[in-house]
Amino acid sequence: MASIFSRIIAGEIPCYKVAENEQFFAFLDINPLAKGHTLVVPKLERDYIFDLDDKMLQDYILFAKKVAAAIMQVIPCQRVGLAVIGLDVPHAHIHLVPLNTANDINF
Ligand code: 5GP
Repeated sequence: MASIFSRIIAGEIPCYKVAENEQFFAFLDINPLAKGHTLVVPKLERDYIFDLDDKMLQDYILFAKKVAAAIMQVIPCQRVGLAVIGLDVPHAHIHLVPLNTANDINF
């Protein structure tokens, strides 16, 4: 069965899309740690980020970097934190979370 993120990518479940290319899809987290909290997901469904091959991993981090730069254009923040957690959804994803030192976010 397709993961919930594959169903979001396919348009079966609504989301607020942030960015997309041939390989990756970025959308707002439904339960954000901070305004602009974005999930970046490979369209290829793999359980864990290190299940991706080296080339895709390289493309993935570069795509996430572009998305983080775009987030910084619209969400005032000191930096965009990056986390790989993956406890709930078994489809690789990177969390991008706008951060300010005043925020008290525990990943
Ligand atoms: P993790 O697997 O890294 O622990 O967390 C999965 C993340 O996916 C959570 O932050 C959760 O809020 C988010 N999430 C789970 N289901 C959905 C959904 O249907 N839509 C969106 N936009 N985010 C989701």
